[in-house]
Amino acid sequence: MHPPSHDFLPLLKQHFGFDSFRPLQQDIVRDALEGLDVFAVLPTGGGKSLCFQLPALARPGLTVVVSPLIALMKDQVDSLRASGIAATFLNSSLSSQETRDRLRGLFNHEFSLLYISPERLLIPGFTNDLQAWKIARLAVDEAHCISEWGHDFRPEYRQLAGIRSLLPNTPIIALTATATSRVRQDIVDQLHLNNPRCYVASFDRPNLSYRVTGKSGAARQTLAFIKERPGQCGIVYCQSRKTVEAVAASLVAAGVAARPYHAGLDPAQRASHQDLFLRDDIQVMCATIAFGMGINKSNVRFVIHYDLPKNIEGYYQETGRAGRDGLPSDCMLLFSPGDVVKQSQFIEEKTDPHDQTVAREQLRLMIHFAESNACRRKELLAYFSENYLPSNCGGCDNCLSPRETYDGTFLAQKFLSCVFRVREKSGFAVGLNHLVDILTGQAGEKIQKWGHDQLSTYGIGKDQTRSDWATIGRELIRLGYASQNAAHYNTLELTTQGRSLLRERRPVFLTKPLCTPPQEAQKPARTGGIPCDEKLFEQLRSLRKQLADQRNVPAYVVFSDAALRDMARIYPTDEREFATVNGVGAAKLRDFSNVFTAEVTRFLRENPRQDFSKHSSEAPNPRSQEPTSPGSIHESAEATWQQFRRGASVQTIAEERALSERTVYEHLVRGIQSGESIDLGRFLTSEQQQEVISAFANLGLERLAPVRENLGGRYDFETLKIVRATLSKPSHLG
Ligand code: ADP
Ligand code: MG
Repeated sequence: MHPPSHDFLPLLKQHFGFDSFRPLQQDIVRDALEGLDVFAVLPTGGGKSLCFQLPALARPGLTVVVSPLIALMKDQVDSLRASGIAATFLNSSLSSQETRDRLRGLFNHEFSLLYISPERLLIPGFTNDLQAWKIARLAVDEAHCISEWGHDFRPEYRQLAGIRSLLPNTPIIALTATATSRVRQDIVDQLHLNNPRCYVASFDRPNLSYRVTGKSGAARQTLAFIKERPGQCGIVYCQSRKTVEAVAASLVAAGVAARPYHAGLDPAQRASHQDLFLRDDIQVMCATIAFGMGINKSNVRFVIHYDLPKNIEGYYQETGRAGRDGLPSDCMLLFSPGDVVKQSQFIEEKTDPHDQTVAREQLRLMIHFAESNACRRKELLAYFSENYLPSNCGGCDNCLSPRETYDGTFLAQKFLSCVFRVREKSGFAVGLNHLVDILTGQAGEKIQKWGHDQLSTYGIGKDQTRSDWATIGRELIRLGYASQNAAHYNTLELTTQGRSLLRERRPVFLTKPLCTPPQEAQKPARTGGIPCDEKLFEQLRSLRKQLADQRNVPAYVVFSDAALRDMARIYPTDEREFATVNGVGAAKLRDFSNVFTAEVTRFLRENPRQDFSKHSSEAPNPRSQEPTSPGSIHESAEATWQQFRRGASVQTIAEERALSERTVYEHLVRGIQSGESIDLGRFLTSEQQQEVISAFANLGLERLAPVRENLGGRYDFETLKIVRATLSKPSHLG
């Protein structure tokens, strides 16, 4: 019934020059072509555009794409045109003559793709035009803009709620990178998607490395980080407009091509700075969070958070703008306890108590992430209810250089007994700041009023700074010795574990504060690297820039960095070789083969040819015990599946392949997620299946622990994951 997946591969190569699909792309394309409504949640860089672009090329008819970013429509359409795809856009930036020409083309069925703003779609009578243009499907990109719960709500998008009744028979495909389930559900409801097939990809970005660095001399740290990466583009996110301006100025003064971007700049200037960045004319954009959504620039190599973000969702989306081309890219967060204080003050200034509670909790989780000594990737994904299995991701500071610990028994005793004494004396609990005040012997009003200067723990922590104590307190909470009551002013209580620690005086090891460079100068190695002839790469880069400028488009529209690196390892000198480059489709072969192969030929006259055939295209992943790079997981999972299809059990596969059973299960889950079917009968009897499936139906697919508990712990997590993968692929939103 379904065309086999490889049916789309020739089309993928012909138009985009790619040899394989990213996860879920082919299922989404297939469902869209069957005329189903589809809801696709893929992380930034996951390749959402292709999910509606390929169907548009596979069949006649017009695909209409709603996008919130008028300023970026031109670039998107230019990109498509560079690949020889008949695309156009309509928005207020066009002259009336241009608009008339495009409308004529649409009535003549000259286009496969039309980009428009949501306002345009709802102009009375426009849907009649769409019918005349033979609309085949509607794609709603950045669909989270429809939800007030999201961080990018756009009132114009809200009007899309009426679109289903205007186009009752047009299949809709909605796409977003939003990771929160509330927003996802809102999208499905608001758009009135009809029994949609829902796809949710993993939110892991294996090519991104994460690190958190102690902030001290932030301007200097930022400059050093950028100087280590000559020629690489990146974004520095700052909290306030003032900081944006100051950081941009200090970078410019140090010789870095940087510009500011924030909502306080006049629109023309903002647009011009954005353009400079997209076109590789500047290296660094210093920005508030106003910058970034929909920026398709694929070669952003780093994202620095100069200040502490307000929440993890924002942090994840902002870092996500690095490395859309799949090449290794670095994310650095500068963290200081001072920023915690600043952010907390902002929260206290809010007037709505509900907003305050939400913001406090979000900040708490953000601080937890920054201070944690656990794998950053695991923590990030856990925030989105995703379980990251490998024990070492090989691409975050905590996995690459585990943080040093010290014997904190004495400090923990002081802190916890202070919590105990306060409760004993006053009969109520207090917050972290107040405890720190007592420990450091402050003479505050509340201290006096409550007589806390009479406590035996008053002033016993004078040797430590206030911020040291706050850090220690937060770690003791993380370790489970004290708990913080979010519903009650974040006051602290001892847990059972904390009480027994106090009683038994067991040793406690605490994490040393975050290091600041230069100790951790080594760069995390990430997967997805393409070793290549760096000198040739540089030459191809400047050729690309020249060609892009001639055509007045951003460089990545001509070729991505990934395509250039591929060229710089296979040295194509004729059309046949050039055609094999990843990212070279028919149109780019026609337009660029001569000029690039000539450049390579010239290069080879003066330079030796290096051999990259032995290298895999993945960078080494030194510490990792289990394969974590996308390529090797893919190959390894394929081998697992071959055995599994032949009937081997998980246990046998694990033994024969010297993998843990967990890894084998993980391979199975990944396979199911990318379209393999599995007979649950190999894991569970049909009664068991019924039982497990109804537990998921009642409790949702998001979290496994409650489901497991509901089933009395009779099923292990691995089996539940298999069932869950089967249920969520493809199905209705749980
Ligand atoms: P998203 O909208 O999900 O953030 P995009 O659609 O902008 O992602 O794609 C990100 C990058 O990945 C683009 O440079 C695109 O050309 C590239 N890409 C998409 N699909 C594939 C694929 N199957 N193989 C290789 N590169 C791909
Ligand atoms: Mg996109």
